[in-house]
Amino acid sequence: MKALSIRNLKKTYGNGFQALKGIDLDVEAGDFFALLGPNGAGKSTAIGIISSLVNASSGSVSIFGHDLEKERPQAKSCIGLVPQEINFNQFDTVQSILLNQAGYYGTPRKLALQRTEQCLKQMDLWDKRDTVSRRLSGGMKRRVMIARAMVHAPKLLILDEPTAGVDIEIRRSMWKMMEEVNQQGTTIILTTHYLEEAESLCRNIAIIDQGHIVEHSDMKSLLARL
Ligand code: ADP
Ligand code: ADP
Repeated sequence: MKALSIRNLKKTYGNGFQALKGIDLDVEAGDFFALLGPNGAGKSTAIGIISSLVNASSGSVSIFGHDLEKERPQAKSCIGLVPQEINFNQFDTVQSILLNQAGYYGTPRKLALQRTEQCLKQMDLWDKRDTVSRRLSGGMKRRVMIARAMVHAPKLLILDEPTAGVDIEIRRSMWKMMEEVNQQGTTIILTTHYLEEAESLCRNIAIIDQGHIVEHSDMKSLLARL
């Protein structure tokens, strides 16, 4: 089963700039996949399209067999997105951030409470559940972002630089948590500026540059060629 299948995907923004010039990408279910490339390469554009935040200009995207155009609600419910910027309400408690998110997905209250507890425990935040989120450390805020993205039990988790700006100790502990989430069956696509992060977590990799996929292979054979 493919978690993600992209064919000839193009994006031209309103100002005429072509950010994606026809990309093909396949991610198998269960994979931990790295999407790398320099600033401006088109990673956020691709992630935006996969997450239904940006409209494609042409091409096709299928998520767990659901075509993004024809079956958008089903495709969307498969996806949990962790955007780069911390964007929860900093005056909400940790628990209410997750409960609100579950509410957006229409999750019944009892299940929402269960999922919130599970996700907070998974990200080692359960004892912070009643803390107002602006009082959390940077690393904890990053983990709230991940916990929130998991509350509706997405099959595909997209992490856009999830450890940006946190120090190395915290980053390592987050790697362990992400690895556990993947081992429990969630497919993960990761973008990062830390090559070490992609190397230690990801089995397959695509590199995007100037709107083209310039590399699409498994991590081992890529590293062997470097
Ligand atoms: P779309 O074609 O998807 O509707 P637009 O071209 O209308 O996208 O741009 C959406 C928003 O992004 C606009 O507010 C635009 O000003 C802004 N924007 C324009 N250029 C850039 C850029 N290079 N990087 C980021 N945002 C940009
Ligand atoms: P990355 O995430 O790899 O840094 P992006 O997908 O954010 O790359 O951007 C790819 C290119 O598209 C950049 O040159 C950026 O300036 C441009 N871009 C991004 N958003 C917009 C927009 N809304 N309007 C016009 N250009 C954009």
